[in-house]
Amino acid sequence: MWIHRLAQTLQQDFLPSHCLICLAACQSADLLCHACLNSIRRNPWACPRCGQPGSALSSYCHSHSHSDTALHFVQAGLEYSGVTKDLIHRWKFKGAVELTYLLVQLALETAPIRERYHGLVPVPMHWRGRWDRGYNQSRLLAQVLSLTFEQKSHRRTPVINSLRASPRKKAQHHIDRQQRLVSSRGRYTTRASFPNQSLLIIDDVVTTGATLEAVAKTLARAGAVRIDAWCLAQAPEVPAQ
Ligand SMILES: [Zn+2]
Ligand SMILES: [Zn+2]
Repeated sequence: MWIHRLAQTLQQDFLPSHCLICLAACQSADLLCHACLNSIRRNPWACPRCGQPGSALSSYCHSHSHSDTALHFVQAGLEYSGVTKDLIHRWKFKGAVELTYLLVQLALETAPIRERYHGLVPVPMHWRGRWDRGYNQSRLLAQVLSLTFEQKSHRRTPVINSLRASPRKKAQHHIDRQQRLVSSRGRYTTRASFPNQSLLIIDDVVTTGATLEAVAKTLARAGAVRIDAWCLAQAPEVPAQ
């Protein structure tokens, strides 16, 4: 209907919309105003093993043996603070799944994916957590990334959903990386095999990298030969208590 189309055009071109974060008027196609967009902190230089901010191996990765890691390279494009933290909170806990595309594009600006992978592996959630939230946020990220690759290069990178997670043993907030590594060990399983494949693990927020490491070990046991990880954001590590 032409009147419907006219109304849509008017809305898109003339009526201002509002920034999601600060409610300032902005271009109707944008979800964020310039000020909020510019305030987003990037995490371009990160430890290649655990994603901690810095330009080289983090002190943790420096002082621990390299032979026991299955992860080759970790990227997390944004710092988990300010506007990013607010966006991720709405997206993850308030059901704002429409923010998936924006978050992926923001993170890709600082953490582009240049390798070709046989598959994208979202970090699985235990079914009870998925039931409570209604979706697995890492799977949404992987689906949007897969579509983005396909639009750019006309190649399909499948999303691999064959991993299973057992429930967490205890709250993760107050334990350090070493304790997290121990509590994440054996949490993820798969019946699939990935002989000689290169895989990219997808997660939303990386804190210590222990979850990524546990998923990577499962994939390595299933035959994968190169395992990297891509995450939206890096959270500062909570000091051990
Ligand atoms: Zn704003
Ligand atoms: Zn590190």
